[in-house]
Amino acid sequence: MSMTVNAAFIPVDSLRRNFAEVKAGMRPKAAVEESNRCLYCYDAPCIKACPTGINIPSFIKKIASGNMKGSARAIMDANPVGASCARVCPTEELCEGACVLNHSSKPIMIGDLQRYATDWAIKNEQNLFSAGQSNGKSAAIIGGGPAGLSAARELARFGFAVTIFEAKEQAGGLDTFGIVSFRLPQSISLWEVEQVKKLGVDIRTNTKVGTDVSVDDLLGQYDAIVLATGMSKVPDLGIEGEQLTGVYDAIDFVEATKTELTSDFIGKRVAVIGAGNTAVDAATCSVRLGAANVKMVYRRTSEEMTAYDFEFEFAKQDGVEFEWLSAPSRIIGDEGGNVKALECIKMRLEAAADGGRKRPVPVEGSAFLLEVDAVIKAIGQTRHLPLIEQLGLEHKHGIVTVDTKTHQTSNPRVYAAGDVVFGGGQGEAMVVAAAQQGKLAAYSIYKTLIAGREVYG
Ligand SMILES: Cc1cc2nc3c(=O)[nH]c(=O)nc-3n(C[C@H](O)[C@H](O)[C@H](O)COP(=O)(O)OP(=O)(O)OC[C@H]3O[C@@H](n4cnc5c(N)ncnc54)[C@H](O)[C@@H]3O)c2cc1C
Ligand code: SF4
Repeated sequence: MSMTVNAAFIPVDSLRRNFAEVKAGMRPKAAVEESNRCLYCYDAPCIKACPTGINIPSFIKKIASGNMKGSARAIMDANPVGASCARVCPTEELCEGACVLNHSSKPIMIGDLQRYATDWAIKNEQNLFSAGQSNGKSAAIIGGGPAGLSAARELARFGFAVTIFEAKEQAGGLDTFGIVSFRLPQSISLWEVEQVKKLGVDIRTNTKVGTDVSVDDLLGQYDAIVLATGMSKVPDLGIEGEQLTGVYDAIDFVEATKTELTSDFIGKRVAVIGAGNTAVDAATCSVRLGAANVKMVYRRTSEEMTAYDFEFEFAKQDGVEFEWLSAPSRIIGDEGGNVKALECIKMRLEAAADGGRKRPVPVEGSAFLLEVDAVIKAIGQTRHLPLIEQLGLEHKHGIVTVDTKTHQTSNPRVYAAGDVVFGGGQGEAMVVAAAQQGKLAAYSIYKTLIAGREVYG
C-alpha cells in the first residue's frame, strides 16, 4: 500500500481505514492452487526452519484435500499462536526461505496458507484442543503474551491447573497491544487467548505480579512458575528535552493506535529515533495517523539497521524518509513546553577495535536542526529488573539466564521464556520464538513433575 505523506488534512474517521489489515487473505481457489504447488518434500527443510516445527507439508496437504480443521489443528498444535505468526513471522528468513522451490521458481506462500487455514478456524469458531485429565499439579504463568500463552496451553493439555497473571486488561502481549493493527488485528490475538481460556486456564487480567500479587505468594502456592513478562519500556535517550510534550515511547505510541486512534498527528512533522522493527512500526503508524512528514533518524546506515527487509520496504512505500548517520543531541521546545525541533549531529562509522560492528563517531561541528512537532523514541526496550530481582533469578543486565533446552532458571521451580530471556546470544525477539520457548518450558515442567503419565489433551 502506498500513501502520500503530504496529505495535509485527513478526516479523523478515515484514519480507521488506514489501520485496517493491509494484506487480504487468500481466496479458496488460489489457496488450493498454491497448496498443489507444494512438493511435500520428505524431510522438508521448511519444518526445520520453523522455530515451532510446524509440519508444513502436512497442513498444506490438508488444505489441498479440503480438510480445513485438520490443517488448522496441525498448525495450532505446534504453535499456539499460529494465527498471529501467519501474519507476523519473517517468513522469508524462516520457513519460506528454506523452501526448495526457491532454487527453481518461487517459494510456497507458507505464511499466507497458514493464515488461510487459521482464518477458517476463526471464522468457523472451532475449538481445536481439550484440556488433559487433571494431574493434581499447578503452574503460575507471569505474563500472558505469546510465550506465556504457549506455556499455559501446553500445561493445560498436560492436565495442570494453570493460572496466567497478566498486568494489562487483555492477554496476548505484544500480539494484542504491540504489533501494528494493519499487520495483525487485535481480534486474531484475542482468538488465540480464547483458545487457551477454553482449556480452563484462569487468566487474571489487570494483575501485575510484584505489585498486585507478591512473588512469595506465587512461590508458596504453585508447583512451577513460568516467567514470561517480555521486555519493558523504551529507555531514555539521555538528552535534554525528553520531558517535553510531544516526546513519546514507541511501544506506548503503537499500543495507543491498537485501541483508540487520535487526530493529534494530522499534519504534524514526526522524527522517530531508531531503525529497528519498532521504529518502523512507529513511523508507519505516524503516517497512517495523518502526519505530514515522518523521518527515521539513525546513527548508522541502512546496512546496519535491524528492521527486517520487508519492514524497511514497507516504510519506504509509506513515504517515510530517513536521516542516516545522524544522532539526536537535544530536543528543543517552545514556550508552552511543546516539541518544536530536534537537534542532531552527523556521525561517521569507524571500524571497531575488536573487528565487530562499526562504531558511530560524531563529526565535529556537524550539528543540524530538524523542525518537528513530535519525537518518538524507539531505541530498544529495558528489562523488568525489579521483578527478576524479587524472584532472585540469575541474570545479565536483566536478561534472565536459562538452560536453553529446558528454560529452567537459577531457581529450579522457575522457568523463563520469550523476550525476558532474549539477548546476549540467547534466543530471538520474535513471536514464533517466544511460542516455542513457552512450549519448551511446559515440556520441562511436565518432565520434571509428571513424566510417565498419559495425560496430554
Ligand atoms: C512494535 C513491535 C513490533 C514487533 N513486530 C514483530 C513482528 O512483526 N514479528 C515478530 O515475530 N515479532 C515482532 N515483535 C516482537 C514480538 O512481539 C515479541 O518477540 C513477542 O511478543 C515476545 O513475546 P513474550 O510473550 O515474551 O512477551 P510480550 O509479548 O511482551 O508479553 C509479555 C506480557 O507480560 C505482561 N507482563 C509484564 N510484566 C508483568 C507483570 N509483572 N505481571 C503480569 N504480567 C506482566 C505484559 O503485559 C505482556 O502482556 C515486535 C515487537 C514490537 C515491540
Ligand atoms: S510459524 Fe512462522 S516460521 Fe513457522 S511455518 Fe508458520 S509462518 Fe513459517
